[in-house]
Formats: sequence, C-alpha cells, structure tokens
Amino acid sequence: MSDTPIPLKERMKIDRQVMPEQEGSERAGNFGEVNLGFTEKIALLEARRCIQCKKPKCIEGCPVSVNIPRFLECIVDGDMPAAARSLFGDNALPAVTGRVCPQEVQCECHCVRGKKGKPVAIGYLERFVADWARAHAGSVVIEPRKATGKKVAIVGGGPAGLTAAGELVKCGHEVTIYEALHKPGGVLVYGIPEFRLPKQIVEDEVERLAEAGVKIENNVVVGRTYTLPELRDAFDSVFIANGAGLPVFMDIPGENYKGVYSANEYLTRVNLMEAYAENADTPVLRSKRVAVVGGGNVAMDSVRTAKRLGAEHAMIVYRRSLAEMPARVEEIHHAMEEGVEFENLIAPLEVIGDGKKWVSGLKCQRMELGEPDASGRRRPTPVEGSEFILDCDAVVVAIGTRANPLLTATCPELKINQWGNIEADENGMTSIPGIFAGGDIVRGAATVILAMGDGKRSAKAIDDYLMNA
Ligand SMILES: Cc1cc2nc3c(=O)[nH]c(=O)nc-3n(C[C@H](O)[C@H](O)[C@H](O)COP(=O)(O)OP(=O)(O)OC[C@H]3O[C@@H](n4cnc5c(N)ncnc54)[C@H](O)[C@@H]3O)c2cc1C
Repeated sequence: MSDTPIPLKERMKIDRQVMPEQEGSERAGNFGEVNLGFTEKIALLEARRCIQCKKPKCIEGCPVSVNIPRFLECIVDGDMPAAARSLFGDNALPAVTGRVCPQEVQCECHCVRGKKGKPVAIGYLERFVADWARAHAGSVVIEPRKATGKKVAIVGGGPAGLTAAGELVKCGHEVTIYEALHKPGGVLVYGIPEFRLPKQIVEDEVERLAEAGVKIENNVVVGRTYTLPELRDAFDSVFIANGAGLPVFMDIPGENYKGVYSANEYLTRVNLMEAYAENADTPVLRSKRVAVVGGGNVAMDSVRTAKRLGAEHAMIVYRRSLAEMPARVEEIHHAMEEGVEFENLIAPLEVIGDGKKWVSGLKCQRMELGEPDASGRRRPTPVEGSEFILDCDAVVVAIGTRANPLLTATCPELKINQWGNIEADENGMTSIPGIFAGGDIVRGAATVILAMGDGKRSAKAIDDYLMNA
C-alpha cells in the first residue's frame, strides 16, 4: 500500500481510460489483435480510479474471486511484480480472461464507480498486468511441492483442463493431459480468433505448465484411443474437461448443402488449421455474402472472421433484437465498426440451393418480440406472411453446441443428465469416486472463467481425495 494514499477526490476526478485499438476499416482486413493494450501511463491513471472500497463488490462479481483492489493498488504503487504475483495467485490465465471475460456482467458491473459513471476498466488492467508478466520471464513461476507419487489424468486441454493441471502440479502430483487435437488450448486455440486472443498467449501458458512438469499427449481421443475405465485403472484420479463442442444445427431443409458450416468447423479451419493462408491443406470457402446465424460470441467471431476472409457482406442473422444479444458488448461494438451487417429479428426457414447443391440463399421469416421466456429475454414470435430470401453464398450456423457422447458412451456408470452433460457435485466429483469433471462438459456451453473456476475447485478436491482418502 502507498505511503501517501491518493485522496478519494483525486481518484474520482479521473475519467475511464480508452483502450487503444486498430482502426475499424484497417483491422477488418487483417487478423492482428484489435485491442492494443494499455500503456504504462494509461494503466496507472486507470488503476488510480479504483477507490479501494472497504467491502469490494467487484470481487463478488468475479467467478474466481480475484482480489481486484489488491492488484490494482500494486499498479498504483508501481510494484508490478507484486501486482503479477497477486493476480496469478488468484487466476491461472489472466492474459486470457483479461481479453475474453464478459466483465460488463461480472466484476465491472459491481464496481461502485459504475453507479454514477463508468466502472474501473478491470479487464483491461488485468490484461496489462498479465502482459507485463509475460514480458518479464520468471516473474511468476509455478513452484511444485514435494512429489507425492500420485498420478492424475486430465481429459481435454481447454481452460478447465489447463487450470486443473497447473493447480495439481503445484500440489506435487504427476499430471498428464490427454488432448484430442494436435494442440492443447481447447476453444482458446480452435474457437476464439487471433484478432481477439493471440495464440502465442495460450502457447506460452502451455509451455509454462510443461516446464513445471505437466505431460501433454496430443492426438489422444479418450473414448477411442483409451476408454475412461482404462484411465481410471492407470491413474489415481481423473479430471474430465472435454468441453461441449458438438455443434447444434437448425434442422431446416437444405442444411446439407455445400457452403453450410457449423461455426466450430468454420472457426477451426481458420484458427487451428490456418485456412487463411494461401494453399492451406485444410481450406475454407472465401464467400462474398456470408450469413452467420446466431447472436453470441461464437456468431461474432465467425462473422468477423468472414469479413477478414474477404466477404463483401458479412451478416448476422438473429431472431431477437440487439438488446437481447448474448455476445460481449465489446464484440458487438467491434463487429459494427468493422462493417458487419446486423439482420435482426429474422429466423431462417430453409437454405436455398442453386440446383447443384451449393448455397444460394437463406429463406427467412421476420420476427417480433413477445413476453419474456425462461431465459428472461423476450420471446421471438413469427410475423405471418413476412418470408423473404436473403442472398448469400455461405451459411455459418452458430446457435450453440452440446456435449459429445463419445467419451461418456464408453463408461455407462458415469451419470449424465438429459442433455448428455456429466453430473458432478459442487467439488466436481462425478458418480464414480475419484473421477471428477468440470467446465462445459458439466455446465453446457458457458464461459472461460467458469471453466477455470471448475478446474481450480476440482483440483483442490482431487488433492484432498488423493492425500486424505
Ligand atoms: C468461438 C467461441 C468463442 C467464445 N468466446 C468466449 C468469450 O469471449 N468469453 C468467454 O468467457 N467464453 C467464450 N466462449 C466459451 C468458452 O470458450 C468455453 O466456455 C470454454 O472454453 C470451456 O472450457 P472447457 O475447458 O470446459 O472446454 P474446451 O475449451 O471446449 O476444451 C475442451 C478440450 O477437450 C478436448 N477434447 C474433447 N473431447 C475429447 C476427448 N474425447 N478426448 C480428449 N480430449 C478431448 C477438446 O479438443 C478441447 O481441447 C467461446 C466459445 C466459442 C466456441
């Protein structure tokens, strides 16, 4: 804490600082990161806006309870190593969450500065500290305790699996991650595009885990290469974090035409298989009029990717209005600046073909909003006689994903719910003692920070199970 605290009045006078970013029309033509990050000077000013509440509500808004006022005050004091230690102590992947968390509905929406103005830019400051730590190698290291001789298998190298691995290796356990793809990272590498989350950040984090002793075996599909019972027999405990990556389709006529993609396939081709490069082994259609169906982060990532691949018209087709869109506010704002067209209050009825089974349009119907549904959002209802055809030569379906049954099918004793998600208690323990689960495979498609929170909680429970059983 500073020797001479900054008076409240002075803190209150400072306006929220603006994130420097690539200009809209320029960035729509490249995959470089949109937000450029705070400079030291901007970060210091922004951190000074925090009034250090006695009972900080922002911490309650964070799913992993990051001690926000503490790391912000370290920035104010100019003690960056302490800021990094404090932040990394609470959150294993702050360079990721500082970029992709929906702060406006978490920490920042609880910030008292937001009551009569704008909240402190907590996410931007989190990113600032995390990037400082990445630039200063060795400032935050994982220090494992004495080896326990216990072995833990982790299924899936997404945010839940990586977080659990970091926590478990710290406890001195021998940890092996089995990842189905050729690179770990989960949605952070195959889903979220480079312009929002540079892949190097995830690679650095994986490297840090490997240096701490975590073994990573890629190209291993649990349920095929090994079954869950086989892992259970070979390890003292298993953490299942295989996400919920099975795409949901609209189930309308014409969805089998060439030019229709699930968002996961579209994004995986571009992000993981580098289809943006000339002569890529796994190409992607570079269509001129791309209709992306959905209104969440996945839809925004897909439509902004289409724009960067050269679409003249990159369109969001969403059945509700802008106010109900579940995507992060910043992503919607950035998409608009980049020239994405928003076709709201319309729902697809049929994919139209050109006679040779290629997409040539999307038959849609106009919608209006009725009473709120179970999600609290106003329910869209069709407007009779309002059908029309939206011209397009590709359709990307981004209406959700669900659990892939491949793993659970090989282990019938593992209890799943009606949607195929694994049932787990508050510590992540499943119906099989010693087997834990967390992240999207338990919650259904959720968020990075919730998956990380599950990884952290389950790692603690696994450690208790292994050391006290
Ligand atoms: C395009 C997109 C954008 C998103 N944007 C945001 C955002 O801005 N902010 C946010 O908070 N959340 C966002 N999300 C949601 C967030 O990414 C997920 O909630 C989070 O990644 C879930 O983490 P997880 O570790 O549970 O699963 P995942 O990230 O899905 O990782 C699961 C891993 O398990 C592997 N796997 C699957 N099956 C097997 C198997 N049988 N054997 C071995 N390995 C297996 C997969 O290959 C994958 O690597 C987005 C999601 C998508 C798809």
